Amino acid sequence: MPKHIVSGLKYLESVELRKKGLSQKEISSQIGVDRSTISHYLNGRNISMDSIELAKTILELNPKDFILISKVLFDDFDEIRQIIEIFNMNHYEPQIDDGCIGCGLCVDLCVVKSISLDSLKAKINPRYCCGCLMCVEGCPTNSIKILEVKNG
Ligand code: SF4
Ligand code: SF4
Repeated sequence: MPKHIVSGLKYLESVELRKKGLSQKEISSQIGVDRSTISHYLNGRNISMDSIELAKTILELNPKDFILISKVLFDDFDEIRQIIEIFNMNHYEPQIDDGCIGCGLCVDLCVVKSISLDSLKAKINPRYCCGCLMCVEGCPTNSIKILEVKNG
């Protein structure tokens, strides 16, 4: 079953990138699916409606559930980053305050690897942050804030 869900997500990614004007070749290269499969997707072939509906449901989940399910579906955090970018889920502004003690827990908790330590302070790259709040929940000093950027 997970394979079918991944196919559904790849289908939705293909359609979204096509709407953004990418060619089949560019879509194939960006999402790592061979060109003939992309062609089938865009012609509505070789994909079941159940897979598409399941994939749509995953994209509509709250950010934490989306991240937890995506982690199970994909071995590779780059795949999850790609979905976040393609579907414009990354409209969050992370902030770290001075209470950070550099313990690194948040680095391990961030599934899309948006957090690093710099001089024993956490630093968050907003590019792939989808607002799952797992870092906020795990921080022992309550030093992280994730603000939603409206109309992002
Ligand atoms: S979990 Fe909190 S205290 Fe630890 S590094 Fe991250 S922001 Fe700093
Ligand atoms: S909210 Fe925190 S854990 Fe979640 S994606 Fe953003 S930086 Fe990573």
